[in-house]
Amino acid sequence: MSEAKATTNFIRQIVDRDLAEGKNDGRVVTRFPPEPNGYLHIGHAKSICLNFGIASAYQGQCHLRFDDTNPEKEDDEYIQAIQDDVTWLGFEWSGPVRFASGYFDRLYDYAVALIRQGLAYVDTQSPEQIAEMRGNFTTPGRHSPHRDRDVDENLALFEKMRDGGFDEGAAVLRAKIDMANPNLTLRDPILYRIRKKAHHQTGDKWVIYPMYDFTHPLSDAIEGITHSLCTLEFEEHRPLYDWLVEHAAIEAKPRQYEFSRLNLNFTVTSKRRLKLLVDEGHVNGWDDPRMPTLAGLRRRGYTPAAIRNFCESVGVSRADSVIDMSLLEEAVRDDLNQHAPRAFCVINPLKLVIENWPQDHEESLEVPQHPQDESMGTRRMPITREVFIDQDDFREEANKKYKRLVLGDRVRLRYGYVVRAHDVVRDDQGEIIEIRCSYDPDTLGKNPENDEGQGKLRGVIHWVSAVHGVPCEVRQYDRLFQVANPAKVPEGGHFLDTLNPDSLRVLSRCLVEPALANAEPGSRFQFEREGYFCVDQDSDAQRRVFNRVVGLRESWPREA
Ligand code: ATP
Ligand code: MG
Repeated sequence: MSEAKATTNFIRQIVDRDLAEGKNDGRVVTRFPPEPNGYLHIGHAKSICLNFGIASAYQGQCHLRFDDTNPEKEDDEYIQAIQDDVTWLGFEWSGPVRFASGYFDRLYDYAVALIRQGLAYVDTQSPEQIAEMRGNFTTPGRHSPHRDRDVDENLALFEKMRDGGFDEGAAVLRAKIDMANPNLTLRDPILYRIRKKAHHQTGDKWVIYPMYDFTHPLSDAIEGITHSLCTLEFEEHRPLYDWLVEHAAIEAKPRQYEFSRLNLNFTVTSKRRLKLLVDEGHVNGWDDPRMPTLAGLRRRGYTPAAIRNFCESVGVSRADSVIDMSLLEEAVRDDLNQHAPRAFCVINPLKLVIENWPQDHEESLEVPQHPQDESMGTRRMPITREVFIDQDDFREEANKKYKRLVLGDRVRLRYGYVVRAHDVVRDDQGEIIEIRCSYDPDTLGKNPENDEGQGKLRGVIHWVSAVHGVPCEVRQYDRLFQVANPAKVPEGGHFLDTLNPDSLRVLSRCLVEPALANAEPGSRFQFEREGYFCVDQDSDAQRRVFNRVVGLRESWPREA
């Protein structure tokens, strides 16, 4: 499958309509606004592909803006990792990397402007009182006793907040909207709170920090964003978004549109949960190949094209759904099937001795890198008297359905000769440790299938020279969780209870063909008959490590 062609979606239809109506002077400006409090996951990829995809489809711009209003949970490590991930996915943001914190001065001025218009006030009730008086879905909120402070008093108090004159929690700035509104976000939402914490971008300059709901619309307006695309949970916040854009008196009028989140089964897509997996050591870091983070998928061997194709295939709508993990796996399988060179790797080696092969004789076979794509060229594969095949490819006895090597019968060593197994050698425990066979020198590149009296060839198996094979470690991954929806655990349970204890299997006695001895970390191959694999960054001169990206075909039942 080549890169999926972008199909239309309701957001594109909105943009088309806006352009047709001449809105925003024909500009299309979107943004991807991560909070730097964790690594990006596959859900974010959907948002990235949508935002950057819209911008590029309409010759517009997409900004990368860190929504960094929460000094406690944010970290420079995340800021770097997020940029790396966006770049890796194949997107380029317009202009510099932007930070909501870069607008703190202007946001402060907008807050002051709201106070001056009588649209914001400083509330010095305790956080508990404020929460209690907010009401709930059935009960309207009640007015704070400080709601009608006059403008000058509010200005003075807000300045005092800014200058550190209050303790944390002793005062907040609130918008004055409507305490009885059925939409709770409009019940005099908090715009600023006090946090006496240094910020990764602004250091000690501020002890008050703007809330996300205040920062986001105004940052969009400051940047001239035309279409602010976010996930459905922000739908309720849209009236506040519009209220702020309206009253902050900024010329640009961005509009917010919501689409449904990407949910994937057998994993979690929440930074909070992913961080817990990392912090408690259930996985080996944010880039553990079992993680649904972009860093994890990259290390696992996923390609940017596979992830982009996947995002395109799931589409953009307002309907909530859970996507089957097998769709993501299918996307990478498609891409690697087309682009990954082939190689031989024996996962569970069993020695095969070709008795009639001269003792030190060696041949170098020229074999294609990709059987369907000649342009990828060829590689050399040495064959020697002793080779290794996979334990699963040999049985002493088997019926006709078994298309591999059986005692007394023949198979072809892929790209090499036809061999017939005669005998086995056992260790003290009776385990087979060696197969003795003979080869037919006349079968290289020739099919002996119809030779009289020989019987049909059972099949073709892969192999690696015992002399030249390179020892390696193979890491086979299974799903991180045992259940389709780990987030939905029964009463009293925890999502960690549903972790799959066998999600990682390390096989350390594998042998790969010598052409891969120096394969670079990150390079990907199809190990014939085994699956798709990627060289892990843990590899060094002593030890090659391969991650299994995905098997050759789907191995899990579909389940929603
Ligand atoms: P999480 O729930 O994992 O903490 P978040 O929404 O808090 O995610 P942000 O950094 O705020 O993470 O997200 C940046 C952007 O990515 C937002 O516009 C958000 O709507 C979008 N996004 C986050 N998760 C998903 C998802 N699962 N599917 C689609 N878009 C998402
Ligand atoms: Mg968020």
